Amino acid sequence: MRDDEIAVVGAGLAGCLTACFLARRGYRVALYERRPDPRTGTVERGRSINLALSERGLDALRRIGLAEQVMADALPMRGRMIHPVQGETNFQQYSVSGDRAINSISRGALNNALLDAATRLPGVRAAFDHRLVGLEPATGEMRFETPTGEVTATAAVVLGTDGAGSAVRQQLLGYGLLTERVDFLDYGYKELTIPAVDGEFALDPDALHIWPRGTSMMIALPNPDRSFTCTLFWPNEGPGSFVALTDPAAIEAHFASHYPDVPPLAPKLVDDYQQNPVGQLGTVYCTPWQVHGRVALLGDAAHAIVPFYGQGANCAFEDVVELDRCLDECGDDWAAALPLFEQRRQENAGAIAEMALANFVEMRDKVASPLFQLGRRVEHT
Ligand code: FAD
Repeated sequence: MRDDEIAVVGAGLAGCLTACFLARRGYRVALYERRPDPRTGTVERGRSINLALSERGLDALRRIGLAEQVMADALPMRGRMIHPVQGETNFQQYSVSGDRAINSISRGALNNALLDAATRLPGVRAAFDHRLVGLEPATGEMRFETPTGEVTATAAVVLGTDGAGSAVRQQLLGYGLLTERVDFLDYGYKELTIPAVDGEFALDPDALHIWPRGTSMMIALPNPDRSFTCTLFWPNEGPGSFVALTDPAAIEAHFASHYPDVPPLAPKLVDDYQQNPVGQLGTVYCTPWQVHGRVALLGDAAHAIVPFYGQGANCAFEDVVELDRCLDECGDDWAAALPLFEQRRQENAGAIAEMALANFVEMRDKVASPLFQLGRRVEHT
């Protein structure tokens, strides 16, 4: 085992995968997470319950021998099922042959599988209830808030995998070592549930369901318990927005006229709508992603994107594979590997950020067009 300890701040999808890859290289890894251990606690409301895992993410999981376990509970979605306001649903295959799919995965189960895999490896220790509140980039000294007071720790390298609102990024910003721009979308998201009916799926489980409504939309992905998690993507303000629609009768009337096939399938629709939070959506642009060759950002912390291409987590997983490759090529010289990682990933992250924004228009509007249905076959959400 190597002497240097690497701190990974944020035990989400990117952080746990990073810990797995680094431990396999022989590093001691301290994984710090602000929340309690997710394997024992309750799931945070308002984060997406499931997500679409595609080949890019699967490739990373295969490299640590976890793909088979994760895929055992995956539900392959071979195309989109379009739900018009009136008329028949319409299935659009993602590939001409029909044998290619994106996979609906439980975010919580995926995170737990990665956390289990990381903490089983020698050299990985996880510290939950540790919220990073301070970082000295030049020395790697970190300060954490814990339930019993503030603690400090130091690491040879600090990797910020703490998500879109990254505290590591904020610390670098505070030192004037980084510039950032966060473009919030004028849309938010809210989750609803379509439960199983007599133990069976209420909709076709082989598809990602879309209710395109021009300026807004709803999607639904299947879950292993045979329910569907629906996500509304609606404007934050104005007509048809979350703030405009709060009264139970108005909510029912809105769904009855715009999503008429949904109320009969979602008995708790009004409850879900009123109780579930509205999540923000945005794109994080920041540069650089690393400083002093010893502090770096990965995943959403570096490049959070809007979810319309279903690629945020997949992209975060690709970061980890690329970092591993850079460490290989640089003989584990972090001061060389981190700038190389940044150079190789920034352009790709910028491209998917742009494509994800463009795909919102495609999903909420263009997929409903008959011309689109005839002319396009694409392999994404
Ligand atoms: P996160 O998953 O956000 O993890 C960050 C972790 O850091 C968390 O555990 C958090 O508690 C912890 N943390 C935060 N602050 C601190 C701190 N100060 N100290 C210590 N720990 C901290 N992606 C896909 O690939 N496919 C999809 O279908 C898809 N669907 C989505 C749908 C929605 C509605 C949304 C919002 C996102 C979707 N995404 C999807 C994107 C995906 O969720 C993210 O890209 C992915 O979770 C990024 O992983 P991460 O580990 O970088 O960040």
